[in-house]
Amino acid sequence: MVGYYHGREVRLRHAAAESYRRMSAAALADGIRLVPISGFRSVAEQEALFFQVAQAKALRPEERAAVSAPPGYSEHHTGYAIDIGDAQFPQWDIQEAFEKTPAFRWLEKNAARFGFELSFPRGNPQGVSYEPWHWRFVGDRHSLETFYRR
Ligand SMILES: [Zn+2]
Repeated sequence: MVGYYHGREVRLRHAAAESYRRMSAAALADGIRLVPISGFRSVAEQEALFFQVAQAKALRPEERAAVSAPPGYSEHHTGYAIDIGDAQFPQWDIQEAFEKTPAFRWLEKNAARFGFELSFPRGNPQGVSYEPWHWRFVGDRHSLETFYRR
């Protein structure tokens, strides 16, 4: 458990959670309050989100996949991915504008020290839309193999 977002628990696998807590404390020492928005999601939770997002944005099926991974394919199923916000700018949670926040700039500079990397930078080879809020833990062998051994 790394925190709550609108009353819902945000959970990560143990190693990722420990590292996230250390990262969050380091950010706080620099005056930045990171907000854990969403961590581990079950296939059922992803399914609900996938269809909610698609309906809210009235997307065609082929557009959906770019916005939110289809159920079963989200990095959130691994327990290593986390969406992060800036407590000062809640209106930019899960928005591309998150990249303008001090939290994002801090993460760009420091997340690697805690084993976190941006999953979907601009122009990523997977063709997923740019998600400045979505980070994944690759700081131990199991997590690294989860994302890099195909
Ligand atoms: Zn995410």
